[in-house]
Amino acid sequence: MSNNEITFEDLDLSPEVMNSLKKMGVKRPTTVQQKAIPLLMDNLSVIAKAPTGTGKTFAFSIPILEYLNMKEKFVQGLILCPTRELALQIAAEIRGLAKFIKGVNVCAIIGGQSMNVQAEKLRKKPQIVVATPGRLLDLVERKLIDISNIYTLVLDEADEMLKMGFIRDIKRVIAITPGDKQIALFSATMPREIQDIIWQFMDGAAEIDVMPKAEDHPDIAEYVVEIPEKDKVKAILSIMEKEQIKKAIVFCNTKMQTEKICCQLELKGLSCQMLHGSIGQGTRNRVMDMYRKNKFDILVATDVIARGIDVDDIEAVFNHDIPNENEFYLHRIGRTARAGKSGKAYSFVSYKERERMDEIIRYTACNPDIYDVENL
Ligand code: ADP
Ligand code: MG
Repeated sequence: MSNNEITFEDLDLSPEVMNSLKKMGVKRPTTVQQKAIPLLMDNLSVIAKAPTGTGKTFAFSIPILEYLNMKEKFVQGLILCPTRELALQIAAEIRGLAKFIKGVNVCAIIGGQSMNVQAEKLRKKPQIVVATPGRLLDLVERKLIDISNIYTLVLDEADEMLKMGFIRDIKRVIAITPGDKQIALFSATMPREIQDIIWQFMDGAAEIDVMPKAEDHPDIAEYVVEIPEKDKVKAILSIMEKEQIKKAIVFCNTKMQTEKICCQLELKGLSCQMLHGSIGQGTRNRVMDMYRKNKFDILVATDVIARGIDVDDIEAVFNHDIPNENEFYLHRIGRTARAGKSGKAYSFVSYKERERMDEIIRYTACNPDIYDVENL
C-alpha cells in the first residue's frame, strides 16, 4: 500500500478530533501527517525534515491532543517556535482542532506581551503552551510556569530558531524538562547545530524526510519581473489590476523600506498595513488579526512573517526587494497557495539585484518565468 492511501480513519483518531477535521474540511492527511502522526502517537521522538506548507502543525498537534489528560492541570505539551506571530497562529490552530474536546486550555507565551497578563493566563493551568524560547525561559526563571512534567516538546521551525540565536535557550529547555519526554523536531533544513541537538538529546528518534512532492508542493506560479527600482510600486499596481489580485503580501528587506513602500501604495489608493520587528506587539497582533479577517488587502512586511504564517486566500506574494537569504525566497512565496490552493509570486529584480536572484534560483532550484514588462 502506498503512503497515499493512509486516511485519517487509519490513524485511529478520537471522534472529537475527527469531527473538527471534518468541520474544517480537511479530508486526507498530508505526507508528513501520514508519517509523523503514527510515530508520535506511539510516543516515539521524531525528527522531520519537511518543506514549508505541508501541514506540519496538525502533524504535531493531533498526537498531543490525543494523549492529553484533561484531569491533570499541568503543562503536558510544549511547543517552541521562532516568532510571536507563529506562536499565536499555532495556538489558534490547536484550539480549532480541540474545539470538541472539553476542558482543553491552550496558551501562547510570547515576548512583547505583559508579564502580568501572561502570568494570569498561566494561572488558568493550560495543558498546552506554545511559546517563543526567550519569553518562556523568563517565565520559568520567575517560577510562573512549570515545565518539569511535560510529555512532549515540539521544536517547530528548528532551523529558524537556531538562526535567531535561540540555540542555547532550546538546549536549556531540553535540559530542564523530563529526560524521557518525547521530542518532535521539525525543520526545513538540518544544519550542524540541529544535528548536534539530535545527537545529544534525540538518540533513537525516528526520522522522516518528506521530499518536496508535486502533490504536497504548493501550486505557485513564479515570475521574475526585471524592472528599475523606481518603477516597482507602479508595477505592483499594474500587476494586481491585470491579474485581478486583491489580497497580497509585499515583502521588503528593511523596516524603513517597509514603511516607505506601504506609504507609497497607500497614496496610490490601496488598502495596506505594515508589519516589522519594531512595531509594538499589540499592533502586530491587531494587524495580523485584521488581515485574517480581510479588513485590508495588502500587507507590507519584513521577513518577520516570512515563515510559517498561514493566512487564507493570499493570492500573490510580491518581493519588492529580493531576500538577502536564499532560503527565505521559499518561505516568502510559501505564504500563498496554502492548503491546496494556487497562488502567484512576483520577484522584482532591479539591475543591481540580478546576480542575487540568479543565486536564489540556483540554490532553491526554482524556475520562475520572466514576466513580460512590456505588458505593464
Ligand atoms: P507547515 O507548518 O508545514 O508550513 P501548516 O501546518 O501551516 O504548514 O499548514 C498549511 C495549511 O494547510 C494550513 O492552512 C492548514 O490548515 C492546511 N492543512 C493542514 N493539513 C491539511 C490537510 N491534511 N488537508 C488540507 N489542508 C491541510
Ligand atoms: Mg509550520
